[in-house]
Amino acid sequence: MTMERPFFNAHSIAIGTCPNPACRAIHVHLLDQDDYVHAQLTIGCENVEDVIADLRTVRDRIVMGGEKKGLDN
Ligand SMILES: [Zn+2]
Repeated sequence: MTMERPFFNAHSIAIGTCPNPACRAIHVHLLDQDDYVHAQLTIGCENVEDVIADLRTVRDRIVMGGEKKGLDN
């Protein structure tokens, strides 16, 4: 049995870096309507292309799939 948790829908994102000179990650912040940061996602530079490829794959399913989005929903 899984417990449903409240789901935060971000209003916008902010993409940047952190002050740590040794950190090689892109930081993505999920913001609410008041620009308050609710969550952070970090993507290592070596993973950026894979993330973009995944985004493009999902986009193509949506664009090509119409109402069903090409997924199992
Ligand atoms: Zn960092």
